[in-house]
Amino acid sequence: MTKDWKTRTQLVHEGSRRSQYGEMAEAIFLTQGFVYPTAEAAEARFLKAGDDEFIYARYGNPTTRSFEERIAAIEGTEDAFATASGMAAVSGALMSMLRAGDHVVSSRALFGSCLYILEEVLARYGVQVTFVDGADLAAWERAVTPATKAVFFESMSNPTLELVDIEGVSAIAHRHGAIVICDNVFSTPIFSRAVEQGADVVVYSTTKHIDGQGRALGGVICASRDFIRKTVEPYMKHTGGSMSPFTAWIMLNGMATLDLRCRAMADSAARVAAALQGHPALSRVIFPGLDSHPQHGLAMRQMGSGGTLVAFDIAAGKEAAFAFMNALQIIKISNNLGDAKSIATHPATTTHQRLPQDQKDLLGITPGLIRLSVGLEDADDLIGDLLGALSTIGRTMTT
Ligand SMILES: *Cc1c(COP(=O)(O)O)cnc(C)c1O
Repeated sequence: MTKDWKTRTQLVHEGSRRSQYGEMAEAIFLTQGFVYPTAEAAEARFLKAGDDEFIYARYGNPTTRSFEERIAAIEGTEDAFATASGMAAVSGALMSMLRAGDHVVSSRALFGSCLYILEEVLARYGVQVTFVDGADLAAWERAVTPATKAVFFESMSNPTLELVDIEGVSAIAHRHGAIVICDNVFSTPIFSRAVEQGADVVVYSTTKHIDGQGRALGGVICASRDFIRKTVEPYMKHTGGSMSPFTAWIMLNGMATLDLRCRAMADSAARVAAALQGHPALSRVIFPGLDSHPQHGLAMRQMGSGGTLVAFDIAAGKEAAFAFMNALQIIKISNNLGDAKSIATHPATTTHQRLPQDQKDLLGITPGLIRLSVGLEDADDLIGDLLGALSTIGRTMTT
């Protein structure tokens, strides 16, 4: 609606629609279909639906549309398409634009399901994918050719929080006419300026920070109006991966507090990382907001924040890492992220269990590695929980 609103205002009001009742809260239009006043009106709408005219919820719905407009506004894209999950967004962004014979370059450090799409599914349809070390601009330069249709990366990798230089990779891709698709989950819509930095298509799993309370699966593809309406929408609406209106309503409500939550989590993550750094039980603490992170400068330029996740390596390995996790009182053992509840994950045995050992070695997924998604609890309580759990493994190891 209003381009000059600041992010926090957009997060509360952008895209809102009110029925004739003037309800204050966003309504859930939990309807699959829409009634036309006349047969002629139905014919006209099927010929060309206007901006706020709907046909069928798989094609679009007022609640879903509100969510799409809200996220597009803060991401800085002309349009967006909401999907049933983050993976529907990733696969939809890729499958809708690629065809047999195309070439894609992707960073190697990917969320397991993203790797499956790029490595297994695209290959099955005759799309050739070259994997590179995402942090190495020279590797992107070597891999991208005039035949490359798209580049794909996670702007901050899971679980070792390595950044891809969005501006650098986009410049390389654009020189060869390739489209830049950025999975931006770890950077969050709040700290991201991916579009400004050159990304053409930004995808989110809204299951993470956007919901922020671990309730619903969802995803979204943000891009130009042309890309969304001419490429993404026909593919998504006919293959069935659209977001449900109920999920869109949950996400709309999540967005009202997204800025406050991401900033509070990032502040706590910075305090947690500082408290853990140098701890004798840890061989490394990975947090892009720390001076010690090799890409600290890039993180500050790209996001202006270290983000909401911290990773650290329990030096004594898997058994000690498990003892540490089992000793946590506040922090939950799970595998979501961006949740109000802080979550500890052991990637080597869960999210990345199926990766072959050589790939784990390559990506730094060691037996002691813990990924911590910092939630909304009091940072002092979290630090107390972490240091307390670390002290118990210290004791078991020395006895
Ligand atoms: C969670 C996640 C996804 C997949 O999202 P779902 O909502 O679980 O389908 C994709 N990419 C990244 C980086 C993720 O963290």
